[in-house]
Amino acid sequence: MAPSAKAGTAVTPAVGVLRAFLNTREMAEGTDQLASSEGLRDWMASMGLVGSEHEVAPGDGEWVRAVREALRDVLAAHNGAEVPLDSLSVLNQAATRTPLVAGFDESGNLAMRAAALGAPGAIGRIWSAVLTSQMEKTWPRLKACRRDDCRWIFLDQSKNHSGTWCTSEGCGALMKARAYRRRQAGGAATGSSASPRARTD
Ligand SMILES: [Zn+2]
Repeated sequence: MAPSAKAGTAVTPAVGVLRAFLNTREMAEGTDQLASSEGLRDWMASMGLVGSEHEVAPGDGEWVRAVREALRDVLAAHNGAEVPLDSLSVLNQAATRTPLVAGFDESGNLAMRAAALGAPGAIGRIWSAVLTSQMEKTWPRLKACRRDDCRWIFLDQSKNHSGTWCTSEGCGALMKARAYRRRQAGGAATGSSASPRARTD
């Protein structure tokens, strides 16, 4: 393998865009920045989408949140879950509203850019970030935390892609502590869950 940094371990701009979008919802805290049209507008502005042509339209919030959660399901699949077909359907239907066009960026590289305004334009930028993430190989390492009441999006920077829980919320430490207590209390009753990384559900 290349002696330089392993492919896909750096927090790139595309990873930053995707994490910022997915983590507008913080399940552990019960907060959602995109729950209000004001929050949605702020997020679109953060994507560089400003001006009257990028106004929030009725239904945009619900649509963007549905796309976000479907994308979270895909990132949960990077962490061992199966992608629900309903989620793929949501994403594919959304894709029909969010055309991308090819264009050369400032560096002279060909890139796909959103060709829509408003919320569809913002989601188009998310698609573009997904494409970039796939090409730079950060995509498989972008995961939803496996703790059901967390699902925070993190970049797995472990050597063997084995990261299971986010660290920002202390999930890894929490789950290891639970597994430890289970082993202490249940002994053999916990079956083969010798690894602290075993799913606990
Ligand atoms: Zn977590």
